[in-house]
Amino acid sequence: MTHKALRSLSPLPAALLALAAALSFPNQAFAQETGRWSLAIHGGAGTLTRDAMTPEREAEYEAALQAALDAGAAVLRDGGAAMDAVEAVIVRLEDDPKFNAGRGAVFTWDGRNELDAAVMDGRDRSAGAVTGVTSVKNPIRLAREVMADGRHVFLSGAGAEEFARDHALETAGPEWFATEARREALERMKAEQVSALDVDRKFGTVGAVALDQNGNLAAGTSTGGMTGKRWGRIGDAPVIGAGTYADNRSCAVSATGWGEYFIRVGVAQEICTRLRLSSETSLEDLAEGNEAGGDVQLTDALVQRVSDAVLDEVADLGGDGGVIVVAPSGAAIYSFNTAGMYRGRATSEGMNEVAIFGEE
Ligand code: ASP
Repeated sequence: MTHKALRSLSPLPAALLALAAALSFPNQAFAQETGRWSLAIHGGAGTLTRDAMTPEREAEYEAALQAALDAGAAVLRDGGAAMDAVEAVIVRLEDDPKFNAGRGAVFTWDGRNELDAAVMDGRDRSAGAVTGVTSVKNPIRLAREVMADGRHVFLSGAGAEEFARDHALETAGPEWFATEARREALERMKAEQVSALDVDRKFGTVGAVALDQNGNLAAGTSTGGMTGKRWGRIGDAPVIGAGTYADNRSCAVSATGWGEYFIRVGVAQEICTRLRLSSETSLEDLAEGNEAGGDVQLTDALVQRVSDAVLDEVADLGGDGGVIVVAPSGAAIYSFNTAGMYRGRATSEGMNEVAIFGEE
């Protein structure tokens, strides 16, 4: 049942539907239509400083971010689902060779593009994730299809490709994903014996988190990983709870950064859990398993503080990166401990911005 269809029903069937939905997700805070929506997006974090970028390049990145933000905002403004907005944003960024996802993904040590992606739906915490994919044009669509199929959450390599073929997802040859700039980065990494961080300067993963007018949250992340990754390495992006997480009771998160550290901290779920537990829930409620209820009041300041604190833990371990977060209150925030992060946010309250450097 679409949002518009639900609105056009008379009050009684709509109430019955709400009851049916509440019974099917008994432990979920039941989302309510508020008319409020929020969207935050990222295109990776890293050592992004003005002196390392020409004004033309900066304008190109800003235009790409704005176009992706507009695509997602249009979905939400029209009353569409948070998950549809997330997909609309990420497909655009995957198709753009400037970002490290889909076309333009970084190379593995063996000179391949191996793609990771994940989505999560905050209504019932259903999720889909894929890793090591090489021939699916838009890995985020594959992740969503895995979620819709529902039998498994996380598929890898050849099995994920077979699933994609069975579900008629669009494929592309290696030449679609490969770009000269990324190949040079791999060659430089090998020749100069430096780390991925030295050649990439930024992480470049893409992600989106959204709150729709029905109060539902969704998150998605897509990446090529890190230059020179080996041995089937999987980063945080497709690991549910590390780089991607959504729960209507607390927040939706998408991360970018040094994946190994984000996995160790469990960044995305850690932020959501802290927010859920810092809601108005009493300790007795928690002990009885009655978490959060419908009273979650997660202000922008609280969401920012909690996200910063979790990112501080990543930094304490030696990692860096950033997150985007939206909450049921409409809060849409970024937090990063790198010099910059490609990012943008838009809300029903009139916010509409894109930015790259830390001081913006
Ligand atoms: N987090 C990603 C990974 O470790 C990299 C990125 O953010 O670009 O695979």
